[in-house]
Amino acid sequence: MSALLSDADLNDFISPGLACVKPAQAAKVEKNPSLELEVGVESNEPEKVSISLQDCLACAGCITSSEEILLSKQSHTVFLEKWNELRSQDIRSLAVSIPPQCRLSLANYYSMDLSSFDRCFQNFMKTKFEAKYVVGTQIGRSISVSRMNATLKDKLPTASGPVLCSVCPGFVLYAEKTKPELLSRMLDVKSPQQITGSLLKQADPECYHLSVMPCFDKKLEASRDECDKEVDCVITPKEFVTMLRDQAVDFKSYMVDFDLSRELCPSGWDSDLHWLSNEGSSSGGYAYQYLLSLQASHAQSHIITVEGKNSDVTEYRLVSDDNQVLATSSKVYGFRNIQNLVRKLSQSASAKKRTIKVKKRGSEASRSGESTGRTNSSLLADPAKTEFVEVMACPSGCINGGGLLNEEQNASRRKLLAQDLSNAYSKIQSVNISDVADEYDNKLNSFNYKFRVVEPSTSLDVVTVGNTW
Ligand code: SF4
Ligand code: SF4
Repeated sequence: MSALLSDADLNDFISPGLACVKPAQAAKVEKNPSLELEVGVESNEPEKVSISLQDCLACAGCITSSEEILLSKQSHTVFLEKWNELRSQDIRSLAVSIPPQCRLSLANYYSMDLSSFDRCFQNFMKTKFEAKYVVGTQIGRSISVSRMNATLKDKLPTASGPVLCSVCPGFVLYAEKTKPELLSRMLDVKSPQQITGSLLKQADPECYHLSVMPCFDKKLEASRDECDKEVDCVITPKEFVTMLRDQAVDFKSYMVDFDLSRELCPSGWDSDLHWLSNEGSSSGGYAYQYLLSLQASHAQSHIITVEGKNSDVTEYRLVSDDNQVLATSSKVYGFRNIQNLVRKLSQSASAKKRTIKVKKRGSEASRSGESTGRTNSSLLADPAKTEFVEVMACPSGCINGGGLLNEEQNASRRKLLAQDLSNAYSKIQSVNISDVADEYDNKLNSFNYKFRVVEPSTSLDVVTVGNTW
């Protein structure tokens, strides 16, 4: 990450990221009319491409300087400084949480199987940093999914069009900055990162919570006003490796053949459960879990998967034994697919405005598993027509997050690596979401985001080149 910025560094220059999703127009270069053109020869001079703050989609490929200042408060160097400071005050309760995507990425990087990595990571955190807790995120995830399912059942009857999952901060930032009309569609249930943080702080209110997460957007999530008490610092696997390299630490030397899970989890927690996962996807499985929660009340139903026009678009349908579609959900990953979805939603919203006869949505689409009146005949996924969309900013989802150890890979090798990690992810033992949530969710806690419209950046808020953070 680049150095801390101050107001003095700011200017109004904007440069599109390498993977900029906004089609930028090449600036026309004035040609000297007196020069003759040579047929069949193209100019070698690259055309200058520019993009203005208004053009930018805030896709999180680039960040504004004010966000960069926030990010710089969440780094491995900040963690080390803060942790040494706390230790000098004799405050020693460090809590570390890590989701399966980061464990798999680090295990792959260190050429270990997952359970060896988990043992090594626990021992490293305990020995090197005197960690009190080292936990996975499945209890937090189960609460997040279960609350989302419950909220969906309340929200869907009055929703016009799909409701959108908001656990991906890359997508939340995009909506808050450039598509405020999406905010009313978004579920405000917090992500596993934040709920895990809240559970750890309940176990020990004094603890310093370090969260290892697959992307840099998670740092911005942890910096939100309604989130900053749950997570003190977010670092990525890339930063974890850098931190160890800077300190000349040999991670593998911390390998042990015993499991520390029981010792390193809060009292009252099942010591294995939080390391597990759930069915659905390597980004949390929210779309699939929604249908699974409805399937429980439709004994003869089954869930089918319908592929979209690329591997980052998938639709799920809960179908009755007489082939009626009872409920639908979908996964939409990557900004190009998100933009297509948003375009379709805007088109259908304006078409609806033009329709004089207004149909109650409940009559045309399923609500909590009532028949939609549709038969299961459409062969192509159409997320804009589903009830709930699991939206993730990264192509391939969180298993391909920008903070994972995949930077050396070219695009196709990176995709293959994401596929390999995804396969390994699907082998992690699955929990039953409602069983875990019933046991661990204290319904008195509120786990909700407060979305806000972010006004366009001022000239003092520079956007830096994409993928530099
Ligand atoms: S944030 Fe960066 S990469 Fe994304 S649209 Fe804006 S300029 Fe392009
Ligand atoms: S999809 Fe990407 S940006 Fe969104 S939470 Fe996952 S890793 Fe982060």
